[in-house]
Amino acid sequence: MTRRGVLIGCGFFARNHMLAWRDLPDVTIVAVCDLDPAKAAAFAEEFGAGAYGNAAQMLKEVRPDFADIATTVSSHRSLVELAAGHGCAVICQKPFAENLIDAQAMVDACTRAGVDLLIHENFRWQAPIRRIAELINRGAIGQPQFLRLNFRHAFDIYANQPYLAQVEDLALSDVGLHLFDVARRLFGEVTRISCETQRLNPNVTGQDAFLAQMRHASGAVASVECSFFSHYAPDRFVQTLALAEGDEGSIELEDGYRLRLHRQGKCLEEVVEPPIPSWGARPWNLVQDSVIAFQQHVLDVLAGRTKAQPSGADNLETLKLTFAAVQSARNGGRQVKLTAS
Ligand code: NAD
Repeated sequence: MTRRGVLIGCGFFARNHMLAWRDLPDVTIVAVCDLDPAKAAAFAEEFGAGAYGNAAQMLKEVRPDFADIATTVSSHRSLVELAAGHGCAVICQKPFAENLIDAQAMVDACTRAGVDLLIHENFRWQAPIRRIAELINRGAIGQPQFLRLNFRHAFDIYANQPYLAQVEDLALSDVGLHLFDVARRLFGEVTRISCETQRLNPNVTGQDAFLAQMRHASGAVASVECSFFSHYAPDRFVQTLALAEGDEGSIELEDGYRLRLHRQGKCLEEVVEPPIPSWGARPWNLVQDSVIAFQQHVLDVLAGRTKAQPSGADNLETLKLTFAAVQSARNGGRQVKLTAS
């Protein structure tokens, strides 16, 4: 059965969505929409879809199986509620919402409509992160005790996404939530967090670096480190480096996708770089492959083969963690306790 989807928002990152959908079997994007008619027309021509300037009209006329929302955060609530109202499954890009009230409203709207809601949290779908999760799940390091996630680079992210230069809690709201989602995926729920932020790049308005310290419900602790103005040669963009220690072993994920499993006095090394899609290129292949993997997962969810990873309800917990980190940073790094919903 071929699923019929529509794309809302034909901007920078949506191109990855479209290229990935085109690579996947049993799915077709029948129409695209953008407030900017030129952007919708360009995608429509390139990908052989219908073009719209209004999401409501598109959903009414096309009646798709799912809507893939790739707009920026301020439009997410109205578009998710609109799509749910048309009875189609919904995929929403991160950040899911600007606040918890909107996020809860979107979860409720999809529950009421009886449709799936998935959040495009592609970091947890990156090949190296999936490999670490698999090793931890099969007990390769024993009981997890310490996690370090490190995403520090100086790649010019503002060239493709100029709006980021004006975002106040930039590092936390743009990549922090991805890293918190990965931490939850690997080590489970977090009970408290403290966070310090920095503004490093003089040409941006917001806080473009942070250091967060967390306690997981299991008792494990984690350090999450992020900067968009750190200098390494070669630059590590777009890799997340990681260290996961347990009571029986450790996993190191280093630059160049080198993954080492230390266990019983031995070290097993493998290279976990994902393939480069036919339309892709380094260093973006990590991201491009993760978009393909996430979107294949969406199709599996729609076919009833598996549960959403993450669902909107799950992503509420990641948002809570992100907002708690913002709160902590604004209060001089004071610890914030999390309560599960
Ligand atoms: P962008 O500004 O390039 O594109 C957004 C597009 O949405 C614009 O063309 C805009 O006209 C359109 N739009 C806005 N409101 C609309 C509406 N109501 N109806 C139709 N079209 C509308 O932004 P971007 O950089 O592509 O980012 C989009 C989203 O993707 C953001 O939430 C961003 O955080 C996220 N993103 C995710 C990743 C990732 O790795 N998961 C990477 C980059 C960006």
